[in-house]
Formats: sequence, C-alpha cells, structure tokens
Amino acid sequence: MKTLGLLGGMSWESTAIYYRLLNEIVRERLGGLHSAKLLLWSFDFAEIAERQHAGDWEGAGALLTEAARGLQAAGAQGLVICTNTMHKLADTVQAAVTIPLIHIADATARAVVDAGVKRPALLATRFTMEQDFYKGRLADRYGLQPVVPGQAGRDLVHRVIYDELCQGAVSSGSKAAYVEEVARMRRDDKIDGLIMGCTEITMLIAQDDFDIPVFDTTRIHAEAAVEFALG
Ligand code: GLU
Repeated sequence: MKTLGLLGGMSWESTAIYYRLLNEIVRERLGGLHSAKLLLWSFDFAEIAERQHAGDWEGAGALLTEAARGLQAAGAQGLVICTNTMHKLADTVQAAVTIPLIHIADATARAVVDAGVKRPALLATRFTMEQDFYKGRLADRYGLQPVVPGQAGRDLVHRVIYDELCQGAVSSGSKAAYVEEVARMRRDDKIDGLIMGCTEITMLIAQDDFDIPVFDTTRIHAEAAVEFALG
C-alpha cells in the first residue's frame, strides 16, 4: 500500500470526513485491521480563506507548494488536495513535487460519465462555480455541460459553505434552500445530475434528498485515492 499525503484543513470539517472514508475504504478492500497509510498537512483555514477572498492565489499557492514538498519529503507517494476549490492550484502544486496528484475533478468526471449524466448542476464555492479551472476541465476533457446556479443561488451556496459548514454548523433551513435551488435548476436548466462540488456539502445533503444522481466529490475522491494507494 502506498502512503498518501493529504493537503487538508480546508476546512478540517471535510478533512475529518476524508480521514474516516480513506480508512473505511481500505478496511472494506483489505479487511481485518488494515487502515490507510496517511500523512496529513492540516492548514489553519483562516489563512487560506483570507488569501482566496483577497484573490491572492499566488500566496495560497506558496503555502500549498511548501506543504506538498513537506509531504513528499516525509514519504508521501501520492498527493490528495482535500478540497475542490484549491484544485485551482493543482498544476502549481503538481509542478512542485515529483509524486502524482490525484485530481478531484478527474475522479468526479469519470463517475458522472459512467452514470450517463451529461448536464450536472455544480454546487460549490463561488471560486469553483464562477472560474474556469473546474467547469472547464469537466467540459474540455470529459464533454460534460456543468451548470451553475444564477447569482442569488451562487451567493447562497457559497455563504452556507463558508459561514456554516466550514464552521461545523449544519442547518435544516440551509438544507431546504439547497434542495430548492436544485429543484429550480431541474425545472429551468434541465440538469440531469448534481455534483456536490465542495467537500463539505456532504454534511448537508445526500442522494436521498434528490431523484437525480448525486456525485459526492469527497467520497469519489477518497475512493480514487485508495484505488491509487492499493493499485
Ligand atoms: N472544501 C471546500 C471545497 O471543496 C471549500 C473550502 C475551500 O475553499 O477549500 O471547495
């Protein structure tokens, strides 16, 4: 089994979910007392979020590349960035190390394509919904047509991620608002699936809340990482 290096703490709420999933999936695959071989670099998320919102991606990139090098030096054989948003810096991080980075958008896109979904809604941070690094990858490399909410929907989804989920607050009102937004997109935008494109959204909603296929990027990414570690 290879050792995975996790760039986590973005936020730690979702990194804790990754930690559990990675270990559970290894146990399912290998049985008995087996568990994942992991190294974790956990950021103070305030320092990352501050740079994101100031548009200082270079500064954020410097933090991530330093951490990635540290994980490689400590023995990591593959890298997992435990957030969709920070895959904006995936190329920068990959260029700083010689071990492979397991890309969350590639793993997600393969799951979407395998399910026969073509026009998935993408709920994520404003950065992921509005910039091209994620949507563009889904479209250009996998022929998908991701759809994001309108301005009001994007504001809602982003606010709930940073002001609630990343701070450990899970509210039934926000869950209802997400479900309603997806219903609206189903009606108006003809979506045929839903990508939970932020690793905390799995705290709020699940497949059972919808009658279209739902793609949980946290679980999909953890499964791809274990596949790499055991493959
Ligand atoms: N974990 C979230 C994501 O998957 C948002 C926090 C962040 O900006 O990293 O995008």
